[in-house]
Amino acid sequence: MRASRLISRKHKEKPAEAQVASHIFLLRGGYMRPVGTGIYSLLTPALRIMQKIERIIRAEMDAIGGQEIKMPVVLPRELWDESGRWDGVDNALLRFKDRVGHDMLLAMTHEEAVVALARTEVTSYRDYPFMMYQIQTKFRDEARSRAGLIRVREFMMKDAYSFHTSEKDLDAYYEKCAEAYHAIFRRCGIPEVVAIQSDTGMMGGKVAHEYQLLTDAGEDKVAHCPKCETYANAEVATCRFPQETGEMLPLEEFATPQIKTIEALEKFAQVPASQMAKMVFYRTDDGKIVAVVVRGDIEVNECKLQKILRVGFAYANDDEILGVGAVPGFASGIGLTCRVIADPSVANGLNLICGANKPDVHLKNFNVSRDTPNAEIADVAVVAEGHACPSCGGPLQVKRGIEVGQIFKLGNRYTASMHMTYTDEKGEEQTPVMGCYGIGVGRLAGSIIEVRHDDFGPIWPLSVAPWQVQLNLMGADRAPALKDAAEAIYADLEKKGIEVLFDDRGLTAGVQFAEADLMGIPLRLIVAPKAFEQGMVEYKVRGTDEKGLIPLAEVVPFVRKWLDAEMKKYL
Ligand code: ATP
Ligand code: MG
Repeated sequence: MRASRLISRKHKEKPAEAQVASHIFLLRGGYMRPVGTGIYSLLTPALRIMQKIERIIRAEMDAIGGQEIKMPVVLPRELWDESGRWDGVDNALLRFKDRVGHDMLLAMTHEEAVVALARTEVTSYRDYPFMMYQIQTKFRDEARSRAGLIRVREFMMKDAYSFHTSEKDLDAYYEKCAEAYHAIFRRCGIPEVVAIQSDTGMMGGKVAHEYQLLTDAGEDKVAHCPKCETYANAEVATCRFPQETGEMLPLEEFATPQIKTIEALEKFAQVPASQMAKMVFYRTDDGKIVAVVVRGDIEVNECKLQKILRVGFAYANDDEILGVGAVPGFASGIGLTCRVIADPSVANGLNLICGANKPDVHLKNFNVSRDTPNAEIADVAVVAEGHACPSCGGPLQVKRGIEVGQIFKLGNRYTASMHMTYTDEKGEEQTPVMGCYGIGVGRLAGSIIEVRHDDFGPIWPLSVAPWQVQLNLMGADRAPALKDAAEAIYADLEKKGIEVLFDDRGLTAGVQFAEADLMGIPLRLIVAPKAFEQGMVEYKVRGTDEKGLIPLAEVVPFVRKWLDAEMKKYL
């Protein structure tokens, strides 16, 4: 490809809307342009990267017996009624009507579609197990698209679905898929991705793992125990709060005029938040009030709370709080007429400060077991840096990560609700079990940049780089023979099937190098007067100090050898 023909305008300045490296470089490097919120057009460099990522994914999916298919992006409502997700999913699902008023949706995932397909195609145990996958557009009307390709509304996903006649078979295949995922991330140049247990969320099912690339640009929080070498998504991570021992002192009121927040109380009473009990009140979708008690320095984990309550909920208002016998700003769990859930962080504490359920009054020496004996004790804490690891008790670290992929054991969540069956050896009807496995192609591309870049642009791993070789021609206005030499190198490399981006525009060295850095191509060849006078071409490796001179006649074999050696890292 000639740079003179490539439509991909480069920008010097950081775009105002971009905060993270991948977003900045994808815009500055002319990889993509926004069309609407969270919707992008991809230019050739980005598309070439995506296609390479897709090829790697395809190879690994085929290697574990996958069959590639393609399902539609637009689906009729009926399929999602069958699974219960037409009503069950929030506004991330884009629903609309077609011209005859029929309810339709843009697929945000394809469990329903694949079950509808498989249940008519596969009816005998003899055809099991099988896995079908696609690399297809998804639309999710995300509330907050962010960070360029990392969270968008329209994106390309590889989604795979496996079907089994037993849980045991699903378990075995799940492991195989987990290995394939590690191979994919290694081949895409990010071997550091870790697999961690996660929440099953809207997918349902029992077990799920997500593949996290740890980087500050991520929006997910991951709890990590360096001693046990374990990781867990902060949404499901647990920690230990050792039982404090000592004498329970009698409750004692003290005046706290206008002291309504934990921060104000810390200052006023000169006691750290870790010595206080904090109340958070919720109203559930079925109209009940739930009071949650956590330690003053800990946040309520609404993902954990969701699993306990099993209905939607929102914060309760002041009237609702008063209605159950509490006083906003001065509340405790004592004597309330509603359900009270106490986190072990308070339940295992001793003589804490809490509200007195009277205006301008707090209590000293609150003890859950004595003062709120009816409270349910349940883990609803957000794990934070320094909390104790549930296994070894050592301090946990909390890191940020990007979820680049996720795998789920769905069990019969969809096959049962959508009446998918097969006949077993005895001729009896059975319901199969299912697994599903997703990878976001664009998010993966963005994530690679987050961990493979310098101040000047991406450093693409050879396996996914938009081109393999960057060829720069400089100073040809002074020595016309340079141009012929560069053209000859370009033609020879192309003839050998090597992908070259040839900057043939005659721009200054400064501009060419800045643009080459934004393209992040691994191997750079520079045809310039000084080396050329000695019959040499200069080479440089992006992101390293490696550079040198190659005799003109040896350029093609040198490049071939370099690429072959480099590519070994990604096989
Ligand atoms: P998240 O928690 O980040 O919203 P998810 O759990 O909704 O992700 P899945 O439904 O498991 O994601 O989708 C499979 C994969 O698709 C994800 O691991 C991710 O790589 C990708 N993906 C999901 N949502 C988006 C998005 N809005 N933009 C880009 N990629 C996405
Ligand atoms: Mg999501």
